[in-house]
Amino acid sequence: MMTIHIVGGGLAGSEAAYQAAKSGLPVVLYEMRPVKPSPAHKSDKFAELVCSNSLKSNNLDNAAGLLKEEMRILDSLIIEAAEATRVPAGQALAVDREAFSEYVTRRLYSLDNLKIVREEVINPKIEADDIWIFASGPLTSESLLGYLQSLFGQPYLHFFDAAAPLVSRESLDMSKIYAASRYDKGDPDYLNCPMNKEEYLQFWQALVEAKQVELKEFEEEKYFQGCVPIEELAARGQDTLAYGPLKPKGLIDPKTGETPYAVVQLRQDNIAADLYGLVGFQTSLLFPEQKRVFSLIPGLEKAEFLRYGVMHRNTFIQSPILLDEHFRLKTKKNIFFAGQMTGVEGYIESAATGLICGINAARQLKGQEPLSPGQHSMLGALMHYATNCDPKRFQPMNAVFGIMPPLAERVRNKRQRYSMYSKRGIEAIEEYRALLEVK
Ligand SMILES: Cc1cc2nc3c(=O)[nH]c(=O)nc-3n(C[C@H](O)[C@H](O)[C@H](O)COP(=O)(O)OP(=O)(O)OC[C@H]3O[C@@H](n4cnc5c(N)ncnc54)[C@H](O)[C@@H]3O)c2cc1C
Repeated sequence: MMTIHIVGGGLAGSEAAYQAAKSGLPVVLYEMRPVKPSPAHKSDKFAELVCSNSLKSNNLDNAAGLLKEEMRILDSLIIEAAEATRVPAGQALAVDREAFSEYVTRRLYSLDNLKIVREEVINPKIEADDIWIFASGPLTSESLLGYLQSLFGQPYLHFFDAAAPLVSRESLDMSKIYAASRYDKGDPDYLNCPMNKEEYLQFWQALVEAKQVELKEFEEEKYFQGCVPIEELAARGQDTLAYGPLKPKGLIDPKTGETPYAVVQLRQDNIAADLYGLVGFQTSLLFPEQKRVFSLIPGLEKAEFLRYGVMHRNTFIQSPILLDEHFRLKTKKNIFFAGQMTGVEGYIESAATGLICGINAARQLKGQEPLSPGQHSMLGALMHYATNCDPKRFQPMNAVFGIMPPLAERVRNKRQRYSMYSKRGIEAIEEYRALLEVK
């Protein structure tokens, strides 16, 4: 019988299984724990939270808050479980982690048409009539990785992420920053933060003294070879940065007519041009340290960090090359990918993509077209980012307003603007839900 197979009972796989099973079609969910443990999970429960117990803000003027509201509207099991097992955490939605996974596990076992198989998927036989959703997460087992590599036919897998911080353009002090491309070649696409010698030395000193995230046992250095964090480059000598990622050559400051001692370049990260990345700043500094040290860069004193830099072991695929807008393999439309391995980052983001893949897998098996919630929703914006980002610069992304299309009108007040994004997002998801009910 035509079946939906889901690999991985984490945040994404559990949500996908619930959504697919609601259709009444046969669904099989494979989870390797406890037969084969992962290096980070501690239990045999579904949707285990491997680290923090927070699912971030619940406020609607926050991108994570909007994403959760969209999931609530679409009857998410993960949100249902979070609300049932909530613990006090101010504006955030935090949970009792054991009760949370227990809740999800119980709900999944109660679904008649969902079969749960405790085994490691290594070399699945994919029949053309069936649908498969791979949601095996950032620590996908080695054997399955080999299979996926052969499925793609190209080395389209990443084994760690090395994302540089992103800042909002409106928070930059443009009286200090200038737009220019090196040697004036092409358009002045980069925003340049000039440093004199004193500023550079102060920044360098703070950088080499800043506190870093400790590597987990399973994050041996081999995973990070070929990608040196900015703080490690700095530690090699006082001038390494000024001759490396901060080299000022060909970047004359129009205000002084001179070449600065060093320059930090910012590169546009989204079409709306309100999100900029710090070029060459892959880092594993603690988040508060990133804010403290990177705010010493001229022009970034009041920068709003929309994403901090991260470097951790993380298996993810080259989604912009491999996946269509519904997270199906472009070359095999009966294979979906969901969760962290698609290049979204975070518990909720992972669950959200599982939700859409579960809905669309069921639609497809019933002979219906998959439906996208569209970029005006946070969910659709995340999926759009992951499948349309420049493949050369693709790094995992969490929910931020900066990846959504700009509003029709310019709204200066940030809080008001974010509320308007949320209002538009909720409307988009309401429309999506109505479409799902009709078609
Ligand atoms: C150490 C660590 C700390 C993190 N901390 C946070 C945090 O604090 N906040 C946050 O938002 N995000 C955090 N993340 C990211 C987090 O993992 C994801 O946000 C989220 O768990 C991803 O959901 P997922 O469903 O894609 O993967 P997971 O939740 O990891 O689920 C994948 C599942 O697939 C199973 N599996 C793997 N291979 C196979 C196979 N071959 N066959 C069958 N089953 C398989 C695994 O056992 C696992 O249960 C952290 C990640 C790591 C590794």
